[in-house]
Amino acid sequence: MIKKFVYSFGGGKAEGSGEMKNLLGGKGAGLAEMTRLKIPVPPGFTITTEACLAYFDGKNSRVRRYAFPEGMMQEAIVALRCVEKVKGERFGDPANPLLVSVRSGARASMPGMMDTVLNLGLNDQTVLGLIKKSKNERFGWDAYRRFVGMFGNIVMGVERDKFDKGLEECKRAHGVRLDTDLSASALKGLVKTFKEIVFKETAKQFPDDPMEQLQLAIAAVFRSWFGQRAMTYRRLNNLPDSWGTAVSVVAMVFGNMGEDSATGVVFTRDPNTGQKKFFGEVLFNAQGEDVVAGIRTPLSISALQKRLPKAYKEFVAIYKKLENHYKEMLDLEFTIQEGRLYLLQTRIGKRTALAAVKIAVDMANEGFITKDEAILRVDPLLLDYLLHPMIDSKTNVQIIAKGLPASPGAAIGKVVFTAEEAERMATLHEKVILVRSETSPEDIGGMYAAEGIVTARGGMTSHAAVVARGMGKCCITGCGALKINEEKRVFTIDTDDHPISIKEGDYISLNGSTGEVILGQAPLVQPAFSGAFKTLMGWADSARVLKVRTNADTPKDARVARAFGAEGIGLCRTEHMFFDEGRIRAVREMILSDSVDERKRALAKILPMQKNDFVEIFKEMKGLPVTIRLLDPPLHEFIPHALEEITILAGEMRLSVETLQAKVKSLEEFNPMLGHRGCRLGISYPEIYEMQVQAIIEAACELKQKGVSAVVEIMIPLVAHGREFTEMKALCLRIGKEVMDRYKKNIAYSIGTMIELPRAALVADEIAKEAEFFSFGTNDLTQTTYGLSRDDSSRFLPDYIKKEIFLQDPFISIDQDGVGALMKIALEKGRTTRPNMKIGICGEHGGDPASVVFCHQIGLNYVSCSPFRVPIARLSAAQAALKEKQEKKQEKKKEKKRNAKH
Ligand code: ADP
Ligand code: MG
Ligand code: MG
Repeated sequence: MIKKFVYSFGGGKAEGSGEMKNLLGGKGAGLAEMTRLKIPVPPGFTITTEACLAYFDGKNSRVRRYAFPEGMMQEAIVALRCVEKVKGERFGDPANPLLVSVRSGARASMPGMMDTVLNLGLNDQTVLGLIKKSKNERFGWDAYRRFVGMFGNIVMGVERDKFDKGLEECKRAHGVRLDTDLSASALKGLVKTFKEIVFKETAKQFPDDPMEQLQLAIAAVFRSWFGQRAMTYRRLNNLPDSWGTAVSVVAMVFGNMGEDSATGVVFTRDPNTGQKKFFGEVLFNAQGEDVVAGIRTPLSISALQKRLPKAYKEFVAIYKKLENHYKEMLDLEFTIQEGRLYLLQTRIGKRTALAAVKIAVDMANEGFITKDEAILRVDPLLLDYLLHPMIDSKTNVQIIAKGLPASPGAAIGKVVFTAEEAERMATLHEKVILVRSETSPEDIGGMYAAEGIVTARGGMTSHAAVVARGMGKCCITGCGALKINEEKRVFTIDTDDHPISIKEGDYISLNGSTGEVILGQAPLVQPAFSGAFKTLMGWADSARVLKVRTNADTPKDARVARAFGAEGIGLCRTEHMFFDEGRIRAVREMILSDSVDERKRALAKILPMQKNDFVEIFKEMKGLPVTIRLLDPPLHEFIPHALEEITILAGEMRLSVETLQAKVKSLEEFNPMLGHRGCRLGISYPEIYEMQVQAIIEAACELKQKGVSAVVEIMIPLVAHGREFTEMKALCLRIGKEVMDRYKKNIAYSIGTMIELPRAALVADEIAKEAEFFSFGTNDLTQTTYGLSRDDSSRFLPDYIKKEIFLQDPFISIDQDGVGALMKIALEKGRTTRPNMKIGICGEHGGDPASVVFCHQIGLNYVSCSPFRVPIARLSAAQAALKEKQEKKQEKKKEKKRNAKH
């Protein structure tokens, strides 16, 4: 079968449809779908992503060939003839020219990543035809100079800057400030200047033949798929090279034909807050790229209602129809030519975390989608942005400027003026704010590295705004008060009394929710949760099977986590308590003791404090389970190593510096991660664990006396061997009994272990004979499975990721094939011995969405993660359960079909 490379749309008919995103790209599929919905779209055609891939690779050859596949151009010309018919114009006809745009479009939207050439088909003859038809000389030459600039830049590779400078000079020479003030003859001169620039930079004549222009432009869009910007974007967003881009060739409509013409971008709901209202921006008498590039700051869409009410009314009907059809919040690009509205693009709109949650909940309540769909629609990681602190608006901060609140959140950092500097500073772990006149796609890397972005120009739909929202970065645009001097690396603001000047490296803060730029480092507060957030989390809770606990070492963490919906503590580390100022001294005494008696004396000082820790945590958790891990880190972590500190400590302890130094030296290990830690400490120094168990059980007894119940789970770390656990369990039971007898109270507590060493996983059936629960310590399990120290991995892990040896950092997302295989073994073996054994995870992976899904799939009872990750885990767990439900349904359907056949 011969492959079809070109799909027509417009004139009421479309060969493609909205489902064909993979083949036609998002833009092409959207144009086809809108045509099918009888929405006004200029006619055109889309060249497939398959044609793009064929352009790079010859058949059965690994060599890039850069040639259109056979038959593609012929098909394109046939489609072009159809467009000519619909428009009643002819491509290259000097009397009645058809002009087109050549647009890129990959499967997933890559805003600004690929380049679009507008007004293609113009040359010294056809421009006269355009002028005659439009009866507007200025318009004709303006379209022409835009075309030469865009084509020269995108297709012929001349830096945009060169044309911008040409334009600035022209404006200066004619004494005007705005592009729109340039006269026809000035613009005509500019066309000549631009062509000269092209010749000077490339030593090539600007192509005059429209068909040659078209072919070159299509090839350039294809090639841009492997351009630097697109590659960077794909790398940052984990998108594969193998998609390719489609090319849509679309008949031009003009938003710059006078005051009854306009262009803009709208969203069917507010992409910042999610509010159900028509939201967007319009520029009158302008061409599309003026909005996106943020060169002129546009007006709110309500201006359209006032100035072109008929077009506005039609637009409202269309946007509602589209939203209803896609059942999603959409981002629409439009142009109005002499009062007539055309849609140029539709796609799922990027939105903030706040808006994502609100829109999903609203749409479920409106009956657009089901609750399950609403849960599945919100990316769990987005919730992170909702939970993080905002600028405290109640405090007195010095607001130095105000722009548009383009992307909410808070950002505090040092000012930088270039994307490169932002990236450089980020590698030094510096937090920076990127300050630009406007951003362009070249700045993506720097925007990614920055905490926040502020631009002097551009609106709510400028490049900076759209990209920042996509990244979940705080961003302020259109902050016209900033006078930026990039060369001197300083910006100034004229305030009422005196000008403020801010240099590179100075701190500023951004409030992306209000658009305020603040001097210095502003104080932050926790956000309050919106109604929609609570609703969504409620739905998620009823959908999920996995329980979600938190890792919390202090009553404060426990409180935060409970507010976030934690159903218990999965890991309470006791070592942080040891560092407390009031007791580190006793801890050190204990460690440096020479005899058991001395050690016990020091431990006795720690006991009441440790007991109080547990009382407070149990109280905070109000009868929810609390898993307490006995001391884990090697003892030398608690004593100083620098001579200066040793000297001070020696003084305090009335020891000689030499004695202390010798002690410190004796505790040194070659490989602390694999050394004297975890239950190995408990076996060498049982009195330490005895004190901890005593503190735990006493705390529970004392609370019980007051009628407060505590659900206690004692967890032994770093067990590799069944007999280690047996020994430690006996210790716990012995002390537990002593305490309970003393208090004459009975506490039901369980004793379990971490599974964090490969050996433990392999002999889990043996360990489960004594252990009552397991908790996967996937941080250590990953370290020991890989034989790789997390703290040292930063030296080489980036190389592994870059070379795609590791597809992701195994400390962020569970290595399901390796570490995951050990987990499955441990689960199966553990539950062979103890069928209903409670098994969870307390490594940091417990808050990573993909890892949570994995935990659900293999049948864990709960995940435990840091407090801020609790909502993420709750939503991820719900999504895992829902996806499983969907898969089972599909499986059943298939089975029914199979049975029906037999
Ligand atoms: P992007 O992928 O950056 O969104 P587009 O292909 O959508 O690029 O083009 C950028 C701008 O050019 C759009 O805002 C749109 O308004 C304008 N544009 C594209 N094609 C046409 C056309 N045929 N007529 C008028 N304007 C167009
Ligand atoms: Mg677009
Ligand atoms: Mg561990």
